[in-house]
Amino acid sequence: VTPSPLVAALRDAAGEPHVLVDADVRAPYEIDWTRRWSGSAAAVVRPRTAGEVSAVLRACAEHGAAVIPQGGNTGLVGASVPRSQEPRPQVVLSAARMTTIGEIDRATLQMRAEAGVTLGALQAAARSAGLDAAVDFAARDSATVGGIAACDAGGIRAVRHGTARMRVAGLEAVMADGSVVCRMSGLLKDNAGYDLPALLVGSEGTLGVITSVLWQLVPRRDARALALVPVGSVSDAVALLVAVRQHLPSLDACELMTDEGLALVLEHIGTTSPVRRAAAYVLVECAARADPLEALAAALDAAGVTDAAIADDTAGRERLWQLRERHTEAIGAAGIPHKLDVGVPLDRLAAFCDAVQAALTDGARPILFGHLGDGNLHVNVLGHDAAEESIDELVLRLAAQHGGTISAEHGVGVAKARWLHLSRTREEIAVMRAIKSALDPECVLNPGALLQPRT
Ligand SMILES: Cc1cc2nc3c(=O)[nH]c(=O)nc-3n(C[C@H](O)[C@H](O)[C@H](O)COP(=O)(O)OP(=O)(O)OC[C@H]3O[C@@H](n4cnc5c(N)ncnc54)[C@H](O)[C@@H]3O)c2cc1C
Repeated sequence: VTPSPLVAALRDAAGEPHVLVDADVRAPYEIDWTRRWSGSAAAVVRPRTAGEVSAVLRACAEHGAAVIPQGGNTGLVGASVPRSQEPRPQVVLSAARMTTIGEIDRATLQMRAEAGVTLGALQAAARSAGLDAAVDFAARDSATVGGIAACDAGGIRAVRHGTARMRVAGLEAVMADGSVVCRMSGLLKDNAGYDLPALLVGSEGTLGVITSVLWQLVPRRDARALALVPVGSVSDAVALLVAVRQHLPSLDACELMTDEGLALVLEHIGTTSPVRRAAAYVLVECAARADPLEALAAALDAAGVTDAAIADDTAGRERLWQLRERHTEAIGAAGIPHKLDVGVPLDRLAAFCDAVQAALTDGARPILFGHLGDGNLHVNVLGHDAAEESIDELVLRLAAQHGGTISAEHGVGVAKARWLHLSRTREEIAVMRAIKSALDPECVLNPGALLQPRT
């Protein structure tokens, strides 16, 4: 069969074996992790270098194709797969072959990683050098450095180390016109002009394709202790965080679960709860050079905690962590949920949770969990038609009304683009649109993600 001019140009750009056109082979790249979003691609292309990415983007521009950058395809807002509505042919640009990890600079603790390096591989490389990547979340074995930077991902350790933005010390990206922008000097102080790498972090594949990142590592703190504490309410969970935070400089993670979520996980993995059942649960983890168990126990004691499961060995910690980390999987096994990732100021978090519970009736089953330390809640709603957008709108409006954001760490993507105005002013959105049209005037990159198409 004679390939289409677009496919032929992509083959010239990345090499024939790296342009996938068979429907069966394309299929996993065309549907997202939640199974809520899918679309058809003219091809999936897997370039190896920034130069090949540049050639792919030029080929797509020339042949009027839109480009969907894709890393591990673990994004939860529908922006890593083709759109069902896009009239142009779409090309998935996968970073799967860009997997080189560079040497660590011992003076700066920075390490270069290509966009397709998974978080797990990055963590392993850092660990083997006696250092720590300082970001972690459950999708670590698939999520990539490029996707993490593109989404400004957070995760369980943001309470101590911040989001991906804090880790990106330099970046290389290919812009929509094929030009390569590279700032990898790693200088901590460099304010000569606009900070283009910072602009690309959190841009969700709409401004450029990230090809490499200079990752800021931190010293390793291997001694860990973890407690799972049952609490009477979300309000009590926030009070516990407030009580322990100031006494625990080693606090590394502080997570929230509710009993609905724990029940699903326990059933899914076939185990029983290690603590008494309660309305909510807090996981508190400390990491330090010396064993932080005593400090953790003392802080819990001072906070009036009388009942907790505590672990400071790897197996014990993993057993407790899986109760939190397997939420997404357990919820997915129970149905196709609405997944919302909001941030709410801590002093209004409990009120927000109550408002969500009260507002969702009619068979909807909200499951709330997330990163308590950051006021970041994942609101998952089961038992409702997955296409029902009123659920999303209701939860996002409540987050905004409680002084929060519609996207804490997953990004806006396709899922929430229509509600961006709930979190950003008209003036802010106008600036975003001006940046987008200056850098990508034909809207080649990730159309419909983050900013809705103009009507
Ligand atoms: C079980 C599970 C747990 C999760 N937990 C967390 C969590 O705790 N915290 C958190 O923040 N997220 C979490 N996520 C969401 C997800 O893993 C992150 O958003 C992650 O950053 C996505 O990385 P990825 O490589 O899979 O990107 P993809 O899903 O492939 O893409 C995500 C977005 O980034 C863009 N993109 C991808 N690669 C590039 C690139 N090289 N250049 C430009 N744009 C690119 C895509 O176009 C898309 O808009 C979780 C997901 C799952 C499935």
